[in-house]
Amino acid sequence: ASRPFIVGNWKMHGTRAMLSEARAIDRAAQRLMQVEIALAPPFTLIHPVRREAEQIGVGAQDCHPADGGAHTGDISAAMVADAGAGFVILGHSERREGHNEKDKLIAEKAAAAFDAGLKVILCCGEPMEKREAGKAVDHVLRQLKASLPDNVPEAGERLTVAYEPIWAIGSGEAASIEDIVAMHSAIREFLVKTFGEEDGTAIRIIYGGSVNPENAAEIIAGDEVNGALVGGASLSAESFMNIVLAAQ
Ligand code: 13P
Repeated sequence: ASRPFIVGNWKMHGTRAMLSEARAIDRAAQRLMQVEIALAPPFTLIHPVRREAEQIGVGAQDCHPADGGAHTGDISAAMVADAGAGFVILGHSERREGHNEKDKLIAEKAAAAFDAGLKVILCCGEPMEKREAGKAVDHVLRQLKASLPDNVPEAGERLTVAYEPIWAIGSGEAASIEDIVAMHSAIREFLVKTFGEEDGTAIRIIYGGSVNPENAAEIIAGDEVNGALVGGASLSAESFMNIVLAAQ
C-alpha cells in the first residue's frame, strides 16, 4: 500500500467524445508518477481508452462469471482483458441494486476475473438504515466475506477493496473522515485475518462516495485510506486531476 490509487468510475457515461478527457488525464498522469491512476469507462470505450493511454490503468465496471456461451448481452472477463482492461470493478452497489446481484454471484465473477488475469476492485458499503442502526461495520464485513471467492491469487497485489457507503454515492455528502477511518480499520483487520499479515496489509482499501477536489486531500490522508474510487468528479479531466493532485 505505497502509492495512493485513484480510480475514475465513469459508470454509464461516455461516448468517443469523452476520449479527449481520457487523453488529458493520461498526459497529466505522466507527470504524477507518485499516484497510481486508472479509469473504468463503459465496455464500449475500454479499447479506445486503452489505445489513448500510456500511463494510466484501464478497467471494466463488470464482467460475467462464465467464460463464454449463450448469454446475450453479457461480457466475459477474458473479453474485457482482451479489450485492454487490467482490472474490473465488481459488486458496485448500483449493480447489487439495479441488477439484483447477490454476494455469491459477485464471488463467482471475481473468481472468473482472477482466472482471466485481471485485478479486482471489490466494492462494499452499507445503506443508511444500517448505519443509523449502528450496524454498518457488521454489514460491510459480512458483505465482503460473502463476496470474496475461495481463492484469491496474489491477494496483496490483485485485490483492492472499495468502501462505498451507498448513501454517500452521488449525494454530494461524503462520509465523515472519522467514519471512513473506522470502517477502513475494520476492513484492514478482516483482511489481515483472512489473508495473513503480508497480503492483508498490502491489499489497498479505497474510499468512494462524493469524493471531489475539495474533500479529497483530507479523505486520502486518512489512516488505512489507500486511495479513492471517484464517480461524478472523474468525468472531467480537470476535476479528476485535481483529486489526483490532492492525493499526492
Ligand atoms: P460519486 O463519486 O459520483 O459519488 O460516485 C462514487 C462511486 O460510486 C464510484 O464507484
